[in-house]
Amino acid sequence: MKAVLALVIAWTVLALEMVTPAPAGEVSVSYVPPRNPAHQPIFEQLKENRFLEKLQEFVSPFRLPRTLLVRLEGCDGDPNASYGNDTIVVCYEYVDELWKAMPAETTTAGVAPIDTLVGPLFDTCLHEFAHALFDMLQVPVLGREEDAADQVSAYIMLHLGKSEARRLIAGTSYAYKTEAEAATAPFTVKQFADAHGTPAQRFYNLLCIAYGADPQLFGDMAETVLPKERAEDCNDEYRQLVYAYEKLIRPHIDQDLANKLFDKSWLPDATTGMPRRPVPAQPK
Ligand SMILES: [Zn+2]
Repeated sequence: MKAVLALVIAWTVLALEMVTPAPAGEVSVSYVPPRNPAHQPIFEQLKENRFLEKLQEFVSPFRLPRTLLVRLEGCDGDPNASYGNDTIVVCYEYVDELWKAMPAETTTAGVAPIDTLVGPLFDTCLHEFAHALFDMLQVPVLGREEDAADQVSAYIMLHLGKSEARRLIAGTSYAYKTEAEAATAPFTVKQFADAHGTPAQRFYNLLCIAYGADPQLFGDMAETVLPKERAEDCNDEYRQLVYAYEKLIRPHIDQDLANKLFDKSWLPDATTGMPRRPVPAQPK
């Protein structure tokens, strides 16, 4: 009996330890001046709008065991973002791709130009942040880590205010759809070897999670796009995500701070204009 009691006490202590947030790890941010002069306006815009400082504040409720560095920098032509060695890198080239794809006016689906840039940029930062969480918090991941990172990002975006959540999902969907439609040739078999889903799959997955979370808010976006058989199961997919997130990530969040912060308004006004992307001068 004593042994059982000791075991119960040991488990209780363990369980308590699991929900005690780890000591706060800092997130530090840095804008690395671009080497490519074409990236100068992106560097200036994001710095002026304090994009990284906002991201730093936004993720502050997450208790990380180590310092996470977030850097915006040039990546020698690679339009990408990555996480490794406690560092997130978002490449100017990636932001430039979004800028290139930005429509001149609000789309027929009602997506404001600024949201086609801010939505996917925010989603990508949260996707990389999810990789950081998996690594630093030693979160077990079943299935592809890239899919899991997409899901964590979607979960966080969906927990902002309704209007911001809708704008972020709409902007991110626009980016995936544009990327999927820009493919001029069918995928080669080798392209399916990528660790990420294809842009079309990521587009449908995101819409399904959003629709599963709130069919009223996302019904008009999802119902005309998702096949009926998929749409029927989106609520189950979303609930599975919620269960995993609550179990594995929530214990590492200062929830009071998160409630306060996630209710704030984070996005620039939807009517915010963005200068047209300068066409780079052709080499003579
Ligand atoms: Zn990734």
